[in-house]
Amino acid sequence: MKFQSTRDQSAAKLSAAQVIKQGLAADGGLFVPETIPQLTRADVEALCAMDYPARAATILGKFLTDYTAEELLADCKAAYAPKSFVGGAAPLHKLNDSLHVMELWHGPTAAFKDMALQIMPRLLSRALVKTGEDRTALILVATSGDTGKAALEGYKDIERIKMMVFYPVDGVSTVQKLQMQTQTGANVNVTAIKGNFDDAQTGVKKIFSDSEIAKDLDKKGYFLSSANSINWGRLAPQIVYYVSAYCDLLNSGEIKYGDLINVTVPTGNFGNIFAAYLAKRMGLPIDRLVCASNKNNILTDFLETGTYDRNRDFYLTMSPSMDILISSNLERLLYFAAGAEKTAAYMRSLNETGAYTVDAATKSVIDAHFAGYYADEQATAKTIRDTMDEYGYLIDTHTAVAVSAAKDYQTKTGDKKPMVVASTASPYKFAADVYTALTDRTPTSPLGALDELSMRTGVEITYPLRGIAERQVRFTDVIESRDMPATMFAYLGK
Ligand SMILES: *Cc1c(COP(=O)(O)O)cnc(C)c1O
Repeated sequence: MKFQSTRDQSAAKLSAAQVIKQGLAADGGLFVPETIPQLTRADVEALCAMDYPARAATILGKFLTDYTAEELLADCKAAYAPKSFVGGAAPLHKLNDSLHVMELWHGPTAAFKDMALQIMPRLLSRALVKTGEDRTALILVATSGDTGKAALEGYKDIERIKMMVFYPVDGVSTVQKLQMQTQTGANVNVTAIKGNFDDAQTGVKKIFSDSEIAKDLDKKGYFLSSANSINWGRLAPQIVYYVSAYCDLLNSGEIKYGDLINVTVPTGNFGNIFAAYLAKRMGLPIDRLVCASNKNNILTDFLETGTYDRNRDFYLTMSPSMDILISSNLERLLYFAAGAEKTAAYMRSLNETGAYTVDAATKSVIDAHFAGYYADEQATAKTIRDTMDEYGYLIDTHTAVAVSAAKDYQTKTGDKKPMVVASTASPYKFAADVYTALTDRTPTSPLGALDELSMRTGVEITYPLRGIAERQVRFTDVIESRDMPATMFAYLGK
């Protein structure tokens, strides 16, 4: 299996190991598989008898053909071990016959980014060997909270890789800061910078684009790499849980083979829902893909009108991981719907004017798979309350956006096929807002919110967030953003 850029059909095609190491195509496009491997009925039935790591290794094997089956199975077993995913990797929770919540937040940071970031570093580590790279990869991340922690947990103690995370000292939540400051692992470093997220991001970008720094790093035996969400190594593992959910529904007798299901995904960068689209294109019996957005409903508008326009107001919401105006992975869908040439033109237009409109043929291809719905802040809070009242089930703010959208879709269309709703964070990750949605009261403090929410609902605090206040703080440095390169070289030593 080879991979190509979304923007150029004619450029050289690369292996999986090469694209995982490289991240972005040379022309600025994203990597996509040249063909989409198919899942036969026999494949799905065989997967049904497997545990999650074996399902993951089998599905990844269809795309990562330059990795051996043994390598993939070893990596998947390590990544999705029961000690990291307490309660299972992607268990389903049934609300009713047509609503099943797929809990993707049982990993070490209590958010769905773990599903990809627990396996991707292992794939990268092997990619370095496969491509004959003898330097150590230095991963630099600027984070506004969640990605940094999930990346730290994924990359810690992985061979041939070191990682540094920079976060804005006053730009992350109390819980997020504590999660990062108490990070373990011999190959990781966390530094706070004075300023906001943009300052951290700009600092990292400057380091990436400085050829002198690259030369100095090379002399020390390092090269820079990113943990970006557009890397194919982060996308491929997300296909797995949609197939796995279908197997679980078959195994529990909810459906028979061939029955169509629908899927709703709370969407930001369009990575998670694009993985569901690929599962569908592989032949998994999925009918509709419902794209759920919060008040930043640029995708709802796009799916309705065919125009993507980021010249609009940006809102901070209680589902911050979906507060996004540029959904990078949408480019991959454009490629499959319109081809490389049109995709390149749409992306040029986005870059130059902040907008593009797809042609009618492209829109009708997208319409055949996707529907867009959104929930504003009030609907999100109401859904948290209603889900607790109706089902005794506690959900976070992002999942609430998706449950609201799923119900709106079902009400509007009358389509009652089993709906799998992706649940992307533990309710305890956003405890304060969830607590307020349930009670109309503000918790006494951000950390106190965890205990108050647990007391109120009787639901146990998710394990990675338990006792966080008692953990040993390791990283306390706060620096000026201009000192980021010096801090980096000091960390590497020699
Ligand atoms: C990242 C994230 C999302 C958005 O996922 P995309 O793949 O970017 O669409 C939704 N919910 C949570 C909790 C997230 O962390």
